[in-house]
Amino acid sequence: MEIQFSGAAREVTGSCHIVRAAGKTILLDCGLFQGRRKESQEKNLRLPLPVEEIDVIVLSHAHIDHAGRLPFLVREGYRGAIWCTAATRDLAAIMLADSAHIQEKDAEFLSRRQREAVPPLYDGEDAKRAVDCMIGVPYDRQVEILPGISVTFRDAGHILGSASVMLEAREDGSTTRLAFSGDIGRSGLAIIRDPRPLERADVVIMESTYGNREHEPVTGARDELARVVRETAGRGGKLLIPAFAVGRTQEIVYDLHELMLDGQVPRIPIFIDSPLATDATAVFEAHPEVFDRTEDLVRTTNKLFHFDAVKYTREVEESKKLNTMRGPMIIVAASGMAESGRIVHHLRNGADDPRNTILVVGFMAEHTLGRRIVERRPTIRLFGEEIPLRARVEILNGYSAHADRTGLLHWLDAVKSTSPSLERVFLVHGEPEAQDALAADIEQRGLTATCPLPGTHAAL
Ligand SMILES: [Zn+2]
Ligand SMILES: [Zn+2]
Repeated sequence: MEIQFSGAAREVTGSCHIVRAAGKTILLDCGLFQGRRKESQEKNLRLPLPVEEIDVIVLSHAHIDHAGRLPFLVREGYRGAIWCTAATRDLAAIMLADSAHIQEKDAEFLSRRQREAVPPLYDGEDAKRAVDCMIGVPYDRQVEILPGISVTFRDAGHILGSASVMLEAREDGSTTRLAFSGDIGRSGLAIIRDPRPLERADVVIMESTYGNREHEPVTGARDELARVVRETAGRGGKLLIPAFAVGRTQEIVYDLHELMLDGQVPRIPIFIDSPLATDATAVFEAHPEVFDRTEDLVRTTNKLFHFDAVKYTREVEESKKLNTMRGPMIIVAASGMAESGRIVHHLRNGADDPRNTILVVGFMAEHTLGRRIVERRPTIRLFGEEIPLRARVEILNGYSAHADRTGLLHWLDAVKSTSPSLERVFLVHGEPEAQDALAADIEQRGLTATCPLPGTHAAL
């Protein structure tokens, strides 16, 4: 077996690893590179390898940094299978359609600026065809995907349908078991189950996003959310929450549902103002088989995301009406970093009102509007206008969907405890500082930890 690290090597995005075994070539993930526009555009246009060399693709989960280049591979001629869980397939259908839309818009913008036709990386048709290649399988069932090659998906507890993958290759009478962590989630996250480790691995490829950080506990985040809702409602204000449409929005709705049932917050109207979030919620509702049955709300109701206080707004006109409505109310809208989407309109309308609160529940990257809000700048620029930031700004760090340092080591320790032949761990999906810190922790456990550079190979 040989592994070639193609993406998410010494960085977080562009997850893509090429495995060659039993005379076959298997691609683990093929995600978009995100970050500085020009640099990531160049990387996204470079194929990890000629498509005719790919025999099969295995996808860990639907996030764009893992699935986002699959339509590009299809556009370039890939027609093979893409194996994933059933929930990942359904989430990928809406996320790749959305990504295609963004690619098309970007290409339009560039064409106008450069005065020449710039084709998009892919379009809606390519996204659809990529989803047509996807075969959804249940967790914990070994499936033979090629002669001599099998996979097992194990719940990674990160987003709906997310998986760690055990890839087993039989060649020349011996078997090699490669454990690919995918993105590892956290214990105690709402709706989805806790991460479950793989076993009997000969080699591990694992993520390291928060390899040098500890998160605040999940339960603390819910209490903080309750406090912020109560205070904002008390002022008669609007609570504006920029949130990713898939995952974070459903968690917030779930927590608000629970808090309202418990009487911990007043029953003020909640508007989920995002067509993508509305679609994503429907996908969640279609996959109760992957919900966490140990959670009270999951056990006691089958309407997790629909209750009297919550309303999903799809049409632009409905969204605009929210501007003229008076608080108290909660508005959850994309995009997560407040760079685009309907949240920008709500911020323009509400950022200057001291009764309102802007609640940050996700990571805000540098150079985004979200980051400027986190920094509590005196004014923020919206649609070319400087708006005074008088609304309160509250930041909740407990909603991360990624394991922290302790969580990552916990996962690896569990894998190690069943894997007598495990010696080597390859760290991917992390910034260098996080990776180096985690590598040092892993070496202390008597394993060899490597942080491969993009393009490097490892023979096993
Ligand atoms: Zn992810
Ligand atoms: Zn990721």
